[in-house]
Amino acid sequence: MTDVLVLCYHAVSPSWSAPLSVTPDEFERQLSFLARRGWRATKFTEALFSPPAPRTLAITFDDAFQSVRQLAYPALRALGWPATVFAPTEFMGARAPLRWPGIDQWQGTADEHELISMNWEDLAELAEAGWEIGSHTCTHPLLTAVDDARLREELQRSRQECTERLGAPCESIAYPYGVVDERVAARAGEAGYRAAGTLISSLRPLGPLRWPRVGIYHVDDYRRFRLKMTPVMRHLRASSLWPTRE
Ligand SMILES: [Zn+2]
Repeated sequence: MTDVLVLCYHAVSPSWSAPLSVTPDEFERQLSFLARRGWRATKFTEALFSPPAPRTLAITFDDAFQSVRQLAYPALRALGWPATVFAPTEFMGARAPLRWPGIDQWQGTADEHELISMNWEDLAELAEAGWEIGSHTCTHPLLTAVDDARLREELQRSRQECTERLGAPCESIAYPYGVVDERVAARAGEAGYRAAGTLISSLRPLGPLRWPRVGIYHVDDYRRFRLKMTPVMRHLRASSLWPTRE
């Protein structure tokens, strides 16, 4: 039986203490642990629809932080592993700080530079290196809270822009804040996405448009990370005993 594991990261930094940032050292330790356990990484959409190995892994990064290209990419390249970036398209015109509720508290602090995003050129470079570039909407809203017209716009326009800018069909999306409901997933399918990642505590399988990802955060030291990867913990989180929300 094929096991498919999808991890969700955000930023990588040696000094940023934000919950969504992991250090390069921890990241490398996590990768070598996964490699030793027989996991083989591929792109998100491929992992869902044609997993190449009995233990197929997809490493995904939300928000397209510049630090992913600078610090995560070399570590992954050393293993020959591609990954997937989900980019909020409105912000990809420049290497500038990302802005939305949830990360805005670092504006004007010593860590502000950590908010700097990639741009289209950076994403093209990663795509060239075999990475998948998916959408993270245009402006990073909580999709379950927007009306239907805005929802369609966020889904369709970001997909179209990714496709045009990178010259390959954009097949996947990660929902901002990892949050989705039936309406949002249905509209994502109508907009042409084949695969979509969520980020909630439950790992219960709900199909390719609500694919559960395991979020890896600052607090996840080596012990916690290994615990999260154990089959027992993953099966528990996929069972109906586990709550759907944090
Ligand atoms: Zn995000």
